[in-house]
Amino acid sequence: MNPIAAMDDTIVALATPQGVGAIAVIRLSGNEAISIVNEVFKGRDLSKQESHTIHFGTIRDGEKILDEVLVSLFIAPKSFTKENVVEISTHGSPFIIKQMIQLFLRKGARLARAGEFTKRAFMNGQFDLAQAEAVADLIHSDSEAAHAAAMNQMRGGFSAEIAALREQLIHFASMIELELDFSEEDVEFADRQQLQGLVDRLQEVIKKLVDSFDLGNVIKNGVPTVIAGKPNAGKSTLLNALLNEEKAIVSDIAGTTRDFIEDEIHLEGLSFRFIDTAGLRETEDKVEAIGVERTREKMKQAAVIIYLFDLAEERLEDIQAEVAKLQEGTIPFIKVGNKMDKAKPEILEALQQEEGWIFISAGQKENLEELKDQLVSKVNMQEIKAGNTVVTNARHYESLIRTQQALDNVTNAIVAQIPGDLMAMDIREALHYLGEISGTVTTDDLLENIFSKFCIGK
Ligand code: GDP
Repeated sequence: MNPIAAMDDTIVALATPQGVGAIAVIRLSGNEAISIVNEVFKGRDLSKQESHTIHFGTIRDGEKILDEVLVSLFIAPKSFTKENVVEISTHGSPFIIKQMIQLFLRKGARLARAGEFTKRAFMNGQFDLAQAEAVADLIHSDSEAAHAAAMNQMRGGFSAEIAALREQLIHFASMIELELDFSEEDVEFADRQQLQGLVDRLQEVIKKLVDSFDLGNVIKNGVPTVIAGKPNAGKSTLLNALLNEEKAIVSDIAGTTRDFIEDEIHLEGLSFRFIDTAGLRETEDKVEAIGVERTREKMKQAAVIIYLFDLAEERLEDIQAEVAKLQEGTIPFIKVGNKMDKAKPEILEALQQEEGWIFISAGQKENLEELKDQLVSKVNMQEIKAGNTVVTNARHYESLIRTQQALDNVTNAIVAQIPGDLMAMDIREALHYLGEISGTVTTDDLLENIFSKFCIGK
């Protein structure tokens, strides 16, 4: 499919969610957007109005009035897609919406495919690919941190920085290719030292971005959190206490229909996702060895571990031995003494002398706030708070890693004084992967893959 040819037509879709609502917005984009609407709109002549104006009137199918509407006009190129765009606010009745969209289809528009408005915006140079993807992330962001990261990326994020460095690299690539034309004469147009300097600068920027992906992943998908501990320590009691509070908070927000995501809680703008809670909810009276094995496995996937000790049952030596084992691992953990209400006094006293303990009663829901504070403190949010760019997209991450490798090859080629033509290949490869991020280099498959994940109307 030729993407340019496919953009000649005018597309239409519902831009607001399906179902009944106070208002629904139908959006059209394309050369004929204004004339198609004008044909069925009774009110001012839309073809004579200025861009960025709103007009009240009725939409009619023949003599039949479908609805009273507000029509917003955006004349090319001053619109989201850089094409003519008309947005029609109707009453939010699925019947009206269906009638109206069918009317526009009869008048020459065609139904938009998933993500097609955003794809057109990208194709017409409104923003680069990474920014287009951020639009999708923004729509799906369900925590403050995810929102901040998507917003930063949508507004440019690392796009400008990468584009500037890519420009310089292109300059070097062409210098080296010039050398190839003069290969008989053994001249060097591309200063190797300068090239190395540029490669180093690029590597520095890219490393920062690559490193930020750990945090980015956590922001986008939630912090994988594990509640561990011996059978009967109170793990499922704690999980239920935390999740029930979350449920109460979510349903307290009047008028919202936000979905409650099972096994996830929101703290300080981050979401914490509890891993393998199905296992926790089963009673653990099966073979204990299986339970222990499973706990080890899931602890490996965690970014934070809440480790529960039963202050009423466990012996001090056992607790201390277990803590020592935990300290050998690399994953941050929180030592939590549970069943404070029934704690053996000598154990409680002994542990209170040690650093870093939190004492709770999951059963009585006591001191859970302190535990939550600790959870938040285990995730380094400085990057996001400082407004730094954080890579949250796995596709960008992969391209960055490939760029790193290609740049390593360039460095090796410089050091080994390898002929220009081979070095030019490595530089081209680095340019290719960098270009993939911004969409300077794309394939139909890649675009299809990205935009098909958008919803229709976006
Ligand atoms: P799990 O095996 O680690 O998931 O432990 P459970 O959550 O099933 O709890 C084991 C038992 O300890 C249950 O009878 C709970 O009611 C009890 N329990 C959990 N938390 C507390 C607590 O804070 N205080 C007391 N007294 N009992 C608790």
